[in-house]
Amino acid sequence: MTETTSIKPIGFACPKCKRPLQPGEKALRCSECHLTYPIVGGIPDFLSEGQLASVAPNYRWIKMLEFLAPIYEGRLWHSFILKTLAGAGHSSLHSIASFISETMEGVTGSVLDVACGPATYGRRMASPSRNVYGVDFSMGTLQQGMTHIAREGITGVRLARARVEELPFENAVFDGVICGGSLHLFPDTVLALHEIARTMKAGAPLAVTTFVAGNAPLTRLMRRRKNMHVFQIPDLQQYLTEAGFEGFGPKLDGTFLTFSARKAMPSK
Ligand SMILES: [Zn+2]
Repeated sequence: MTETTSIKPIGFACPKCKRPLQPGEKALRCSECHLTYPIVGGIPDFLSEGQLASVAPNYRWIKMLEFLAPIYEGRLWHSFILKTLAGAGHSSLHSIASFISETMEGVTGSVLDVACGPATYGRRMASPSRNVYGVDFSMGTLQQGMTHIAREGITGVRLARARVEELPFENAVFDGVICGGSLHLFPDTVLALHEIARTMKAGAPLAVTTFVAGNAPLTRLMRRRKNMHVFQIPDLQQYLTEAGFEGFGPKLDGTFLTFSARKAMPSK
């Protein structure tokens, strides 16, 4: 982590037992589980390829995303995705970034970017008072993110390969979480949200962009795919409550949905 940020960096924890890991130059070790997690090109890797294939039903899509990583952030690509998935909405990379910034306004400390891709939004969130931790299960897109980070001279962003169901962090360490365009890809939405909530401090905000059921061609196609969810807003609200969130604030643009929520405060 950089010296220019004023916040105390948080260390990675074992994704299995959630205990802090012993740092090393080439690997992180869990003395409890006797597991070693390699660091590849500056990216701690909490997943093996074999594990990835067995746990990720959307593995084929991940591989496609790795192929697409270099053009992932291009304006045309984004507008293509938003138009075909969301119908004739007006959302753009800029408006999504604005929504995320507004939700995270005033948040200092550590922010988690779940399924961060090349840290498209996470890189824009880092500041001297805010460190960003990005996790994704595609090593290719994470490496692309590292290239952007180096080229843009961004400090305060750390990336790791991990799955959302087993985040490599201790309980209640994050002051905010963002999850852009991936919630519908997680096999078990409540399990994923539950694990995200575990890593958040009480009252911390969550900013999500995803899709809901509609008639745009790709959402019709997604609905036929077993491993992708096309949400209904009331169901989503129910999932969030089950996972320990409150203050659901949805905003629809076509079938493109942005929403914010907060990690529920402990009941008195
Ligand atoms: Zn462990």
